[in-house]
Amino acid sequence: MPDSEVIVVGAGVAGLTAARELALAGRTVSVLESGDRPGGTLRTATIGGVDLDVGAEGFSVARPQTRALIDELGLADRVVAPRRSDARLLLDDGLHRVPPSLLGIPVDLGDPLTVDVLGADAARRAQGRDRAPVGELAPDIALGALVRERMDADVVARLVAPVVGGVHAVDPDTVEAEAVAPGLLGALRAEGSLARAAARLRAANGAPGSAVNGLVGGMTALVGALVDAAGGLGADIRLNSRVRSVRRAGHRWQVRTDDGARACQDLVLALDAPAAAMLLGDDPAWSGVVAPLRSVRLGDVAVVALLVDLPVVDDDPLGSGVLVGPGHPSVRAKALTHASAKWDWVRERLGPPRHVVRLSYGRDGTLAEQVDALPATAAADLAALLGRESVAVEQSAVARWPRTLVRPMPGHRATAAAIVDAATAAPNLAVVGAGLGGNSLAGTIAVSRGVVAQLTS
Ligand SMILES: Cc1cc2nc3c(=O)[nH]c(=O)nc-3n(C[C@H](O)[C@H](O)[C@H](O)COP(=O)(O)OP(=O)(O)OC[C@H]3O[C@@H](n4cnc5c(N)ncnc54)[C@H](O)[C@@H]3O)c2cc1C
Repeated sequence: MPDSEVIVVGAGVAGLTAARELALAGRTVSVLESGDRPGGTLRTATIGGVDLDVGAEGFSVARPQTRALIDELGLADRVVAPRRSDARLLLDDGLHRVPPSLLGIPVDLGDPLTVDVLGADAARRAQGRDRAPVGELAPDIALGALVRERMDADVVARLVAPVVGGVHAVDPDTVEAEAVAPGLLGALRAEGSLARAAARLRAANGAPGSAVNGLVGGMTALVGALVDAAGGLGADIRLNSRVRSVRRAGHRWQVRTDDGARACQDLVLALDAPAAAMLLGDDPAWSGVVAPLRSVRLGDVAVVALLVDLPVVDDDPLGSGVLVGPGHPSVRAKALTHASAKWDWVRERLGPPRHVVRLSYGRDGTLAEQVDALPATAAADLAALLGRESVAVEQSAVARWPRTLVRPMPGHRATAAAIVDAATAAPNLAVVGAGLGGNSLAGTIAVSRGVVAQLTS
């Protein structure tokens, strides 16, 4: 195999973004990807004849990085806002509308939708507590602890737990507040109220309801455009090329795949944290990078897409989707997205009364369900949500994401910073991906671009 100046290991968004940046800077780049397709966590399944996202399906508009990359890649005309974004909350007393909130933290404790979820007493209690002066706050305070202290245990149980469980597959008591809501503690100190802090961050996220955008044809369009852009600049992207080991020999890296070894000057690891730690191994030279990489925790999730042919679903009875409270007695999914209610292009291509719903499993990062049984479990969950005995499923697709979602536990930000710092100090090494930017395309892109800028400067 020919040598190259830079080898990027992993062709997810992190690796492809890094490869494009490096190629733009005039470097000779090779990307080695173990799988038979690029994109990593961006992936589609064909269902009802339409290719639909079964990994990431949208991007936050609050953080400009994804949109900026989309624009640079010439995909701006494919950006769409959701057709509707009125999610529901399923609690033990039934379905509620999700009130205006930031990760479930209500922005107004007097809002009728908030009162509907919490009950008047709990809402009043929370309002009273949120007026108390803001005391000392540990910088890595857990989100659950913060909301309980400033508001009420019911706000955690009935709002924050379902939302954070649906989005990040974690319990709010095990997640660092600042890792999932950057700027929240600063806003709390400035506003003197958690509700107002949540409102401030939410306002910074743009118009309510349009906090997430997507791409017509799905988010994998971003992968195709990145591959074309990097390839057009000369990057060599090789699929089915699992990197087995990396080793420093003199002033070069030796990168071994099943096809042999190749040398490079700079090495960019764009993998999940355990895979990056494994490649660097026990060589004491990299222990400063490997030790924090080993402490990044990942969770298992699975997404099940169901195609149903049901006129009753034409009216979007579940809004844009449902977040399910932990421990619900009959629904096992942690969240459901009604894809053909949320995205116009999906609705048009399927044509009502054909609909696709996506259900996700893996509460608290643990997939308790049998994978083979997931389509049946998902069909039963959908029936329960629609209040029917059963639903006839025309087609289903299951995407398993083992050890994929990052669990941003207290200390995660410090761990991520330690990884970037130690890798920057190591000769000709960069680490991107690895959950350093949290569970988000924006964070992943930001880290990738920042780290590569340092490598090329
Ligand atoms: C189900 C799900 C839904 C999500 N939804 C959203 C969303 O809607 N919006 C959003 O912003 N974010 C979302 N995210 C998060 C987002 O998708 C990720 O943060 C981002 O895609 C991570 O990209 P990455 O390149 O770091 O990692 P990955 O996508 O995991 O890519 C790593 C790549 O490395 C390859 N690889 C691993 N080992 C080796 C090896 N030894 N040799 C060569 N290659 C190797 C893998 O095959 C993979 O292709 C979601 C994540 C999941 C799991």
